[in-house]
Amino acid sequence: MIKFKILTAISLLLLSSTALSGGINVEKVSDHLHILSGKEYETNIGLIAIEGGLVLIDPMPGNTQLSQLNSKIRSISEKPITFILNTHAHSDHSGGNEFFKKQGGKLVESTSNLDGFAHIKVKSHSAIDNIYYFEKSNTIFVGDVFDTSWHPTFYAGGTKGFNEAIDAILNLGDDQTLIVPGHGAPASKLSLLEFRKNTLEWINKIRELQQKGWDVERIMGDTQAKDILEKFNMNNESPFLPYKAFKRFIERTISVIENEKGM
Ligand SMILES: [Zn+2]
Repeated sequence: MIKFKILTAISLLLLSSTALSGGINVEKVSDHLHILSGKEYETNIGLIAIEGGLVLIDPMPGNTQLSQLNSKIRSISEKPITFILNTHAHSDHSGGNEFFKKQGGKLVESTSNLDGFAHIKVKSHSAIDNIYYFEKSNTIFVGDVFDTSWHPTFYAGGTKGFNEAIDAILNLGDDQTLIVPGHGAPASKLSLLEFRKNTLEWINKIRELQQKGWDVERIMGDTQAKDILEKFNMNNESPFLPYKAFKRFIERTISVIENEKGM
């Protein structure tokens, strides 16, 4: 039943998506919350209406994209942008800060002055990952702790930080909560649980192959490793990862495993 409800909520969300226009995709989650994404970085940008203004989460960079984003925002609401939040410091999530600061937006990390928001800090994708929960629309912005269009990137926090981050996200909201990843389609808590399971399975497989003395090239050819990787290919892209990205993912996973030895 719960699963059915979540799927219904997500299909409704997809139905309410508007077609790409001006290179910016818009999904209306509720009267108070829109999710926008640009073609170039496909960063999920939150636009939340609060009393007297708008909160903008993760404005992406790029001059042309930013003016398109701005006109898209203006077509949704006439309210001024009052606050800017970043899930983390990487430029695909923060590159538009200056542009919107010039329009009066105030960049804040804590949401203590914002009614209806919860904020927690975790360390998984980067040294500081901010998780923002907007209660009114039952939606959590989790940045790149979670990704539905790419492989996991848990390099800053390792296995421990990743698990703690996922637990912290699962503790917010309820079974209907919408989870907005840094990139890729918004998903449910069930998808997040699946993502965690696949990520841990990936780390264990790489550890096992590395302990056998396999080098990166040989690991890349392993059928089981490739099968696990394919579980992150939610958009059925072919190939999912370019050679370099696949290689790098294994190398970075190995460095996480090395760091955790003896811990
Ligand atoms: Zn990102």
